[in-house]
Amino acid sequence: MPELPEVEVVRRGLEAHVIGRRIVQVEVRHPRPVRRHLAGADDFAALLTDRLLVGARRRGKYLWMPLDSGDAVLAHLGRSGQLLVQPARAPDERHLRVRFSLGHAAGPGPTGLELRFVDQRMFGGLSVSPGGAELPPEIAHIARDPMDPLFDDDLFVRRTRRRASGIKRILLDQTVVSGVGNIYADEALWRAQLHGDRLGTRLRPTELRRVLAAAREVMAAALREGGTSFDALYVNVNGESGYFDRSLHVYGREGRPCDRCGTAIRRVAFMNRSSYFCPRCQPPPRVRRASATGSGTVPV
Ligand SMILES: [Zn+2]
Repeated sequence: MPELPEVEVVRRGLEAHVIGRRIVQVEVRHPRPVRRHLAGADDFAALLTDRLLVGARRRGKYLWMPLDSGDAVLAHLGRSGQLLVQPARAPDERHLRVRFSLGHAAGPGPTGLELRFVDQRMFGGLSVSPGGAELPPEIAHIARDPMDPLFDDDLFVRRTRRRASGIKRILLDQTVVSGVGNIYADEALWRAQLHGDRLGTRLRPTELRRVLAAAREVMAAALREGGTSFDALYVNVNGESGYFDRSLHVYGREGRPCDRCGTAIRRVAFMNRSSYFCPRCQPPPRVRRASATGSGTVPV
């Protein structure tokens, strides 16, 4: 699944290549990717045809392209989605779902450039957000991500310290902070030397600022690695950045020595997935009996 840095790579590619272009024609080749556009594929195409693309923006893993109409094209890549800018002469991709033929801002007529939504598994999709140019209401509840220049660190600290849940769970809560997926959460917590089960209410502001700084480092590193194709016409997200192979300290490294202290990395089940951590650098919270009868335990 594309994580935030990969989505940001796509946003930058769109910004470089489609802003100022006019949508000349829209071809919906499969209904599923536009299923969230309830008025249907024909309405989707009609609303976008002859509109000017004026931006490429992102909130968490959602992308949107504001239009000169004040509406926006809202996109989510899901698990396997790609937004590709291709010459029209390029052969269709096997899983090409939606094709936008692009022209110049000044007048009609295709210029041989296409924006293509390609998605094998089709968990992702596109919709038109009415009046969504500034911020689509559909995603207004999603918090900014740590790489967003307007992310509010103090607000994050305040909100996290009100929550009696584990810091990893909080990092994955899109209403508190967006764009931190399972892998980045584990990597950030390793860098910050905090166990994911430490409760928000029990963390000091300095520790939470350390987590934020660590998340930014991890994301920036991934962005550098994934960013080599920014200037290529072909804008690609395949969900597996090379960063994952080379720079991970804990994720997927069960049993291997911690890069900091040499202790074997541990893996535990977490929300149908896994959490990886160093038991020495990231000691789990101490657990005490909640009552004399031992009916439960409470992390402290
Ligand atoms: Zn360690």
